[in-house]
Amino acid sequence: MFYHYHSAEDTLKSLQTDDSTGLSSKEAAKRQKKYGTNELESPKKQSLLLKFISQFADFMILVLIIAAIISFLVSFLKGETDYVDPIIIFAIIILNAIIGVVQETKAEHSLDALKKLSAPNASVFRDSTHMTIPAKDLVPGDIIFLETGYYVPADARLLTSINLKVDESALTGESHPVEKNADCVLKENTPLAERTNFVPSTGIVTYGRGTAIVTATGMDTEVGHIAKLIMEDVTPQTPLQKKLAKTGKILGILALSICAVIFILGTLQGRPIFDMFMTSVSLAVASIPEGLPTIITIMLSLGVQRMAKKHTVVRKLPAVETLGSATVICSDKTGTLTQNKMTVTTLYSINGAENLSSAFGNFLLSLATRCSDTNIEHSKNHESTIITGDPTEVAITTAAENQGILKLKLDLTYRRVDEIPFDSIRKRMTTIHMKNQNYEVITKGAFDMLLPLCNSVYINGKSVPLTSSYKKTLQEFNQRMSEQSLRVIAVAYKDVVSIHDKDYEKNLTFVGLIGMIDPPRPEAKEAVATCIEAGIRPVMITGDHITTASAIGKALGILHSSDEAINGAKLDTMSEKQLEENIQHYNVFARVSPEHKVRIVKAFQRTGNVVAMTGDGVNDAPALKTADIGCAMGMTGTDVAKNAADMILTDDNFATIITAVKEGRGIYDNIRKSIHFLLSSNIGEILTILASILLNFPTPLLAVQLLWINLVTDSLPAISLGTEKPEKGIMKRPPVDPQKGLFADGLVVNIILEGLFIGFLALTAFICGYKIDGNGSLTLGRTMCFSVLALSQLFHSFNMRSSRSLFETGIFSNIRLTFSFILCTILQVLVVEYPVFASIFKVQSLTLLQWIAVFFLSFLPIVVVEIQKGLNYLKN
Ligand code: ATP
Repeated sequence: MFYHYHSAEDTLKSLQTDDSTGLSSKEAAKRQKKYGTNELESPKKQSLLLKFISQFADFMILVLIIAAIISFLVSFLKGETDYVDPIIIFAIIILNAIIGVVQETKAEHSLDALKKLSAPNASVFRDSTHMTIPAKDLVPGDIIFLETGYYVPADARLLTSINLKVDESALTGESHPVEKNADCVLKENTPLAERTNFVPSTGIVTYGRGTAIVTATGMDTEVGHIAKLIMEDVTPQTPLQKKLAKTGKILGILALSICAVIFILGTLQGRPIFDMFMTSVSLAVASIPEGLPTIITIMLSLGVQRMAKKHTVVRKLPAVETLGSATVICSDKTGTLTQNKMTVTTLYSINGAENLSSAFGNFLLSLATRCSDTNIEHSKNHESTIITGDPTEVAITTAAENQGILKLKLDLTYRRVDEIPFDSIRKRMTTIHMKNQNYEVITKGAFDMLLPLCNSVYINGKSVPLTSSYKKTLQEFNQRMSEQSLRVIAVAYKDVVSIHDKDYEKNLTFVGLIGMIDPPRPEAKEAVATCIEAGIRPVMITGDHITTASAIGKALGILHSSDEAINGAKLDTMSEKQLEENIQHYNVFARVSPEHKVRIVKAFQRTGNVVAMTGDGVNDAPALKTADIGCAMGMTGTDVAKNAADMILTDDNFATIITAVKEGRGIYDNIRKSIHFLLSSNIGEILTILASILLNFPTPLLAVQLLWINLVTDSLPAISLGTEKPEKGIMKRPPVDPQKGLFADGLVVNIILEGLFIGFLALTAFICGYKIDGNGSLTLGRTMCFSVLALSQLFHSFNMRSSRSLFETGIFSNIRLTFSFILCTILQVLVVEYPVFASIFKVQSLTLLQWIAVFFLSFLPIVVVEIQKGLNYLKN
């Protein structure tokens, strides 16, 4: 149902809403039952069964299934009744598939949970109160508020509009924002793109503000109608996952070639062809790291969940990887490095400092508060007043109210008739009010943006021409206030008879300066120090005055004596090349506009940096997109900024970025640890078999045993390593060099050496069991080899936890890994000692002494690696 050909009043009537109260919560709940939630249906997820079946779509698993079938046929043709091998292989394949499904579902759930965290809100009028609710709870008939930078949360008919412009490109493809007008009533057949009194869901308010009544929600909206065409829900792979998938393929081919060599050599040595075939295929299945990409997804999403608890919502998974490589963090000042709790402390007129309670003080505050968009709510007994809105304006309104200047009263007396909203490029705003039969224009904003608009100055109740000597005096006052870290707002006004020409911002009378403190966040100083220690350069980018910015930069340790602060005007005089050549000298950028931010990011990037950048406004979106890690503010950020960002800081705090970097580095480390563990273990398995063939020993491991090791001792510890806490001193290291790749710093050598050692231990166990006191048997040898291979990998997983000694890290401090270790050890002992399993896996019970030997050998990787860590420590 459309309402563009109805008046606003008719629309309110037919949707049964009263615009003086909004809907009641009860009525809204009723309507939600009728119309459903305001959400686009997400595409159907793959069913569990399909997910399960797709686990078998792996080439090696198919080969294994064929091998199991052949094994069954051979036994059948031979007339044997022993089908244990094929049955156990099938059981293991199915178990593997179940584990795969569980892991994938888990990863999917955590990604869904993340999407929910960054779901949009809507600003709505219900129960006579202005409130913010999740956009999905909107119903037809709700009255909503539209503000610059926010999404239109549902299809709606405008009730009021002030300079409102909406970008509807998502729906109409029209790239220019459309001017809106609540007051017109259109023809019924007006095309969608020309319905100026209608705002569609997913539109973005790029300018102005307004109110509207929701006419359609969810799948009933215009976007809902085409949603089926645009719905896509693919989570793209991160660069690391792509790289790993590639590396995995190469490793897979390598493993496959070795298995082929083993098969050929074994057959040439006259071993039974069929046994050799089964062993090689099982070895190939066990050693190809096909699960790596899934394990990485789980690790990334587990990390992302941890980060959500620490005030960082990651919107794009690759950001987690990039965080560890960040070398520059560009941060806003207000709210991120400071508390955004502003208090007016100082006022200046042309005569000098003035009291807030003086006649001039009251006049200045009364002008400024009229030119503010704060919401004021008095408690029922009028004992307390809650003022909300932009912190600068809240500070002004609060100061005014404390002087008994009541904004609500002023707004009634001096009704606002027009306005030019604040934006971070103009750095000022103007409101026009009725004053008697005439009009009054009030402009407030940054001193340097306002002074050029003035031709007179307010002295003792009169407007006097603004001479250059007055200008100088005012500039001195502005400088003095800025040096005290104060944020300065200048105020000017004029009376006019007509507002026809709309030429508001000229020939104004300069009234005075309002100075407010915004103390640095207490935790910011420490976070800046950590940042510098971690080899990351903290940079402050702000719209504020250069002197104010420098004072705060110094207080926080961002600006040192050797650095310089620079402002937007100077940036404009520099070419891209000059900026690039000098960028390392600047840590504070003041009076910048959002376009400058893009230039700054690019200049840092061209000098080889990985840049994180914060932003909140509509105009910050390009910089957030350009940065390697765009961080939007959760509390003050607009929907546009959030949508452009890779992550959202839910507490708007600089210290949170540093915590996120720490987590990011930790996650990258953990991924490396898992890969290290999986690959060294797999090499151990391959080498055990390869060496025994080359030495002409009987095959030391059977197919089912290999598959068991792959299933149990590989995947559980590998995932548990993903929950390892960031290592001590992780923020004392330089950032990860993205050029170096995952296998940097001798990882490959370590993987091979450790694999060799594990293979050596397993083979030693085999020889011990096979020939113990001359009465060993092949089954005993295999049992010991099988157990040592499984258990040594479990012990080895503890080596991965840290580059420091286990005693320093805390042996049992990774609870998941400890649990995996205990569980897998019990399972391994059960398989050997429980007769039914023992016969299935073709192993025999071990004596206590033999178990001691098995545990002793399996424990050796810890001894060797601990010694190696000790030597490394001494070397450094
Ligand atoms: P940051 O980028 O660190 O958040 P900022 O908040 O100081 O910096 P802007 O909000 O763009 O940046 O403000 C720039 C300047 O505009 C301020 O120094 C102030 O002089 C002026 N200003 C800020 N808010 C208002 C406002 N509500 N009305 C009028 N002028 C304002």
